[in-house]
Amino acid sequence: MVLRLSTLFLRTLREDPSDADVASHRLLVRAGYIRRAAPGIYSWLPLGLRVLNKVETIIREEMAAIGAQEVHFPALLPREPYEATNRWTEYGDNLFRLQDRKGGDYLLAPTHEEMFALLVKDLYNSYKDLPVSLFQIQNKYRDEARPRAGLLRGREFIMKDSYSFDIDDDGLEASYQAHRGAYLRIFERLGLEIVVVSAVSGAMGGSKSEEFLHPTPVGEDTYVRSAGGYAANVEAVTTVSPSEIDYSGAPAAQVVDTPDTPTIETLVAVANERFGRESGEWTAADTLKNVVLAVTLPTGERRIVVVGVPGDRAVDLKRIEANIAAHVEIGGELEVEAATDEDIKKHPGLVKGYIGPGLSVEEPVLGTESATGLLYLVDPRVVSGTSWITGANSAGKHVIGLVAGRDFTWDGVIEAVEVREGDEAPDGTGPLEAARGIEMGHIFQLGRKYAEALGVKVLDKNGKLVTVTMGSYGVGVTRAVAALAESNHDDKGIVWPRSVAPADVHVVATGRGEEIFEAAAKLSEELEAAGLEVIYDDRPKVSPGVKFGDAELIGVPTILVVGRGLADGVVEIKDRATGNAENVPVAEAVEYVRRAAAQ
Ligand code: ATP
Ligand code: MG
Repeated sequence: MVLRLSTLFLRTLREDPSDADVASHRLLVRAGYIRRAAPGIYSWLPLGLRVLNKVETIIREEMAAIGAQEVHFPALLPREPYEATNRWTEYGDNLFRLQDRKGGDYLLAPTHEEMFALLVKDLYNSYKDLPVSLFQIQNKYRDEARPRAGLLRGREFIMKDSYSFDIDDDGLEASYQAHRGAYLRIFERLGLEIVVVSAVSGAMGGSKSEEFLHPTPVGEDTYVRSAGGYAANVEAVTTVSPSEIDYSGAPAAQVVDTPDTPTIETLVAVANERFGRESGEWTAADTLKNVVLAVTLPTGERRIVVVGVPGDRAVDLKRIEANIAAHVEIGGELEVEAATDEDIKKHPGLVKGYIGPGLSVEEPVLGTESATGLLYLVDPRVVSGTSWITGANSAGKHVIGLVAGRDFTWDGVIEAVEVREGDEAPDGTGPLEAARGIEMGHIFQLGRKYAEALGVKVLDKNGKLVTVTMGSYGVGVTRAVAALAESNHDDKGIVWPRSVAPADVHVVATGRGEEIFEAAAKLSEELEAAGLEVIYDDRPKVSPGVKFGDAELIGVPTILVVGRGLADGVVEIKDRATGNAENVPVAEAVEYVRRAAAQ
């Protein structure tokens, strides 16, 4: 069916919506693809649905190609499965929770690991049933703190989520790689540039994890890359520890009086003034800064942790947040912030401005046990044999030449400081540079965490019950529509890639003559008969200027204008992306468009 603009349910807007700050949001609303229903919640209009369906079709085809089977779960789910994995609590404020008339707890699913796991548990019981990969394309609900940029971060959005079930780690690796390949093909077909970055699996637990980022300045994710091909989410960048140093000849640590030096800056100045050394000036990198943090657990408990980092580096709370789960032995949403004065006062061993490692009050320097009982973590640059100027856990005192491994120990090592441009990539492929992107897809090896919590077991070859291992894989479908509009637009409107455009050709009839509309209608039918999808602007009393403007705003790749040229037997065919226009004889127009569409 030719889509006739005289009857199509569409109103294009001249004005930008007032709440839109990114181009894709502005243009998708103005061109009549979506309408806002509530913050972060959108309705889909006919043109929008056509694009959305095309994106979904590409995803379905590539999922089918790796043997994944489509199912469909409800979005409205009972609390119990999410209680079993602790996510009812761990998901925090992002979860939409509700009650039925009997007071039973329900949620709107933010993701579906639990349901898939339970379904497989329900129906399968032998290693012979595995591997299996299941997927769905479905609405997800997350009460995002900052819904923004239209479809880019919604509170209701469509995700393709799939889950793989395997008997062993090799199987999981194979399922993971199959999904990785499928994702690369999906984004390739969508025409969306992608950088695959290593990620931290965070709240989900599990091990290997990668994100598919689309590089764009409007992205909220910062990632780093090296010229040699390394790419990682900032949270996932690992620091190569320097080699350990033999400290057998190192001089003993020395406690010195340093009144009024509560900052790294004043400390470096005092050290150079009073304790100069032959090997050059002291710098902030010679100091060990001990930062007191408060970690809020999903249970609401507030735990104080001290992290020791080189004084020339700022702590990065997001990196700590992403990596702290292993140290506090609890998963879920962990919130890390600087401890308040109030927090610090509760621990008499913590002397603000003079905090050192070894948090014993009586033995401020060499005490290896923290009398405060607080967890003490260090940056990977703090290795055995490195020597530091740091606080002596006593007001107005610091210590010089405090040797790691000899004079103090730590409970664990954590990625705690900012990654800087120019830092070396961990795989030695050159200095890092920062870039921005938006997460389009995410794959990770969940492992056995969920299967264990929900008791998903099968009999192995020897008749023994074993827990299956899972992978979890998501693509943001509605986000992909937005990202495509974001990266394919100009000042006039959207410029859809062919793979997802709402139509192949947009026919515009301009002028008053009856014969123009007749010719345009006929051409539209012929184009349709040739297998092309056609929008036909047959509105009788709309000016050519408005029609051209709408065609460019809507963004179909080929625009065919039937107008004045018709008297000479030609129509104008214009490429939306390049702006190139050609006069083509009417008789050759269909073939011309067909060829353009096939490219
Ligand atoms: P983000 O870091 O952007 O919040 P996420 O890591 O929470 O995303 P996942 O749980 O990995 O997201 O979900 C899989 C995919 O779903 C993401 O890669 C993204 O494309 C999409 N997605 C997640 N949250 C949203 C949202 N609020 N709106 C639209 N798409 C989303
Ligand atoms: Mg993710």
